[in-house]
Amino acid sequence: MLSCKEVSELVSESLDRRLTLRQKLNLWMHLAMCKLCTRFRKDIVYLDSQTRTLIHEAPGVMMDPKVELSSEAKTRIARKLTERN
Ligand SMILES: [Zn+2]
Repeated sequence: MLSCKEVSELVSESLDRRLTLRQKLNLWMHLAMCKLCTRFRKDIVYLDSQTRTLIHEAPGVMMDPKVELSSEAKTRIARKLTERN
């Protein structure tokens, strides 16, 4: 069975490309038994749909150079990226 880490990667990939039948079966078998990954999938699908809606409704916002992350947010993201490696 897939690990939760593998499932989180597959869930992310599924937003950008079609999974193979085998990947889908493995994913759904894990999701049927793991509440955390089911919750993660629900959250990431929601975030993806909201982002796509924002890009569609206000494309300029995503490209506006005046819209910028706070330095705290940048530090937080950099820390998370470092933790992953
Ligand atoms: Zn899991």
